[in-house]
Amino acid sequence: MASKPRHEYDTIIIGAGISGLACASRLYEHNYYKQKGKLLVLEARDRIGGRIAAVDVLGNRLDTGANWIHGVGTDEKPNPLVSILPHKRYRELSGTVVFGRKTGRAGGDGGAGCDTRETPDGWVKVRHVEPESTNSDQAGDLIVPSEVAGPLSGALWQMLGSLHETAIRTSPKKAKATTMLDAVVHDPGRKEMYATIPKAHHGSLDGMPQTIEGIEAAPLVAQSAEHLEDQPSMSLAEYALDDFEGDQVFLQDGYTAVVHEVARQIATDGIIQTGIKVEQIRWDEDPIRVVTDSGIFTAKQLVCSLPLGVLKHEQKTTNVSNPLFLPRLPEAKTKAMSSLGYGTLDKIFMVYDNPWWNHGPYLDILKKGLVGSTTVAAQTNSDGDIEGLDTLTGFTDELSGIA
Ligand SMILES: Cc1cc2nc3c(=O)[nH]c(=O)nc-3n(C[C@H](O)[C@H](O)[C@H](O)COP(=O)(O)OP(=O)(O)OC[C@H]3O[C@@H](n4cnc5c(N)ncnc54)[C@H](O)[C@@H]3O)c2cc1C
Repeated sequence: MASKPRHEYDTIIIGAGISGLACASRLYEHNYYKQKGKLLVLEARDRIGGRIAAVDVLGNRLDTGANWIHGVGTDEKPNPLVSILPHKRYRELSGTVVFGRKTGRAGGDGGAGCDTRETPDGWVKVRHVEPESTNSDQAGDLIVPSEVAGPLSGALWQMLGSLHETAIRTSPKKAKATTMLDAVVHDPGRKEMYATIPKAHHGSLDGMPQTIEGIEAAPLVAQSAEHLEDQPSMSLAEYALDDFEGDQVFLQDGYTAVVHEVARQIATDGIIQTGIKVEQIRWDEDPIRVVTDSGIFTAKQLVCSLPLGVLKHEQKTTNVSNPLFLPRLPEAKTKAMSSLGYGTLDKIFMVYDNPWWNHGPYLDILKKGLVGSTTVAAQTNSDGDIEGLDTLTGFTDELSGIA
């Protein structure tokens, strides 16, 4: 005998991650949804935010999921996240190190956050400068020959592209057993890099496998953000994509500030119910029946914001007696779910009593941060100014929430 519905709603949203919350908040702007019993968000965990979360470590907040806004956008194309940031309390990553090409103007300013100076022997001194500071004496210098800077970072991206091809060609079984370091060392594209960089700088290339492994430490099979069905491939290319132009920023109050801002009204008005796990969605009934571990809910419309991993897992287990979707979802939806892939992104925080490490030049560079536009090679325009500055990769000593 079917159990009696506990609550009847107009629209139920499953999942209180940022997408479910954003959807609910947008609906809640309409007076219709402000009426009692029209809208509900069901969340399995005992908190909202999903993959945006934070923990407290020795009194410091650490963002365990998202913490980085990939570009605040421009006036013409602003990042919508920025418009919902509470009081806009964000800040740029501290310091940038930029490889610039010759400016043709000794002492020329390379642009925001950097300062490049060409020395008489054709080398470019690159300084990292605090964004708010114009006093370059504070900065440590990193010297890179101008004719090597472009090809060097070009080689990195060429290498990533080559790895992408390798990953597509490798069988899933082999890709499972292949570490990223192995893949880089044996990649055919690696040989080509040596041909494009002068011999004196091959040392920099020697360190590239570790650099790439540092970005993506998972085995080859896990590099799957844009894979074809059943074919592993690389997500490294994502590092070359800027969703939005503009500064890359961390939020002073952590990414959870965005979640709380988006959810503020609906949380106050009791639209979200946490600690309720959806176990089955009988989507062809009218109204739709949502079976949970805390009883049955019904809705005329249902928005499912469950993660792709949950949906894929569900596809694999369609034969079990209690599937999540009953009946099975239409083919167009299951096909879409199969064709999308994802990688693994874990964060590991290590907390030490004392800073035991040396402050060699490499660490100092990491500490200052190497963040900037990573896709566009530096160009000199007709006025001799540098455009499209290129940096190597993104590291920073800033963890939002850490004093
Ligand atoms: C370690 C890490 C770092 C990241 N860093 C960044 C970054 O710096 N910048 C950036 O822009 N993005 C980053 N991301 C990506 C970003 O966090 C996610 O894209 C985003 O949070 C996903 O939101 P969502 O609402 O789609 O999914 P989720 O946040 O996963 O929300 C889905 C919700 O559904 C709930 N749910 C699952 N099953 C059920 C069920 N049966 N019943 C009820 N509820 C259920 C889950 O508990 C969850 O709350 C990072 C992700 C990770 C993991």
